[in-house]
Amino acid sequence: MRTGLAPDGGLYMPSDLPELKPAFWSSLHELDFTEIALEMARLYLEDELPVQVLKNVVNDAFNFPVKMHSLTEQHHILELFHGPTLAFKDFGARFMARLFSEIAQHEQREVTILVATSGDTGSAVAHGFYKVPGVKVCLLYPKGKVSRLQEMQMATLGENVTALEVDGVFDDCQRLVKQAFLDEELNKKLQLSSANSINIARLLPQSFYYAFALGELQKKGMDSPVFSVPSGNFGNLTGGLLAMKMGMPIHTFLAATNVNNVVPEYLKGGEFIPKDSIQTLSNAMDVGNPSNFVRIKVLFGSSDDPIRSHIKGYSYTDEETLEEIRTVKQQHNYLVCPHTAIGVRAAKEYAAKQSAGIPLVTLATAHPVKFRDVIVPETGQKIDVPERLAVWLKREKLSITIGSRFDEFKEFLMTT
Ligand SMILES: *Cc1c(COP(=O)(O)O)cnc(C)c1O
Repeated sequence: MRTGLAPDGGLYMPSDLPELKPAFWSSLHELDFTEIALEMARLYLEDELPVQVLKNVVNDAFNFPVKMHSLTEQHHILELFHGPTLAFKDFGARFMARLFSEIAQHEQREVTILVATSGDTGSAVAHGFYKVPGVKVCLLYPKGKVSRLQEMQMATLGENVTALEVDGVFDDCQRLVKQAFLDEELNKKLQLSSANSINIARLLPQSFYYAFALGELQKKGMDSPVFSVPSGNFGNLTGGLLAMKMGMPIHTFLAATNVNNVVPEYLKGGEFIPKDSIQTLSNAMDVGNPSNFVRIKVLFGSSDDPIRSHIKGYSYTDEETLEEIRTVKQQHNYLVCPHTAIGVRAAKEYAAKQSAGIPLVTLATAHPVKFRDVIVPETGQKIDVPERLAVWLKREKLSITIGSRFDEFKEFLMTT
């Protein structure tokens, strides 16, 4: 199988990116989400998995809706938060889980996924892989440093999902995972894999909804949108670039960040200088050294000019984020999470300097309810916790506490 696991435990990224025919891109309005996803997935994976298997993977992974909400005739919000953990990471995690399961069954060897997480990725991966045959998941999260809901969504599942509560910080979790991949004895015993966001199995599904958005616009007689992408590690935006490389007509990308603005600074003409991350209200984007930047460079043949012409950078403070949450509520009676607010603001700032009429699509990366502590005081709008979230808080926590020393982690992996 050509897409076997790469030495770093990820899936290989094809070096030449295939394109889909213009007829596909112009007929998106006739296809539903899973039909679009299947065509795009086939392009990369048809040689490794039969179409029928891919079809099952797609149908099973995307069993929740994607919706487009129009703020104005020009500006649309693509709601990517209707999956089980209410954030867009469900797309990558659920697709990757089912793909890995197929590969594991084909190779007849169980895969063990190791994930260090500070919250959102872990809960999406835990849910994505839950009860998926042939795959075991081990999540490491820092004790006391993830939100209660996120912790409960990771640590109460059981079955093939083990949550390790590490007595340390996120960097300790990440160090333990990295060390495990380098440990010869462990790698003899287990087929280890990572679920990091530079994994093609996670990036590819993040290209599907860009195409879906274009289909929705086609129904309104529009084409070639500007995509505003709230960004941290830039996996989401890289998914859009993949769609563009597959031939999708896209006007421009907006990289919208909080004050962790390493990429916007680079896009403005500066150097790419990783920094320590700064804590903000849009905490899933608090990334000081975005791991997908390298991948973006590779997609553009490592030259700066085409990157800067296709992607414009925007960065906003927490005050601006809160102001945007209020404005969107007042003007459109619509609630956005802090990440999405940053995307909306970038789209508006961009549009103000353009001729009218270019369609704008802002990706809504999380459901506002996940950030109601921030949103309720700003907007005065009450948001009830949906029952499907509240149930998590009542469940029993099953995580295992470990220290931050590698031998302890290794011992755990060797004996389970
Ligand atoms: C992960 C995440 C982001 C950032 O996505 P990247 O792919 O890391 O750029 C934005 N918003 C939310 C809600 C997230 O969970």
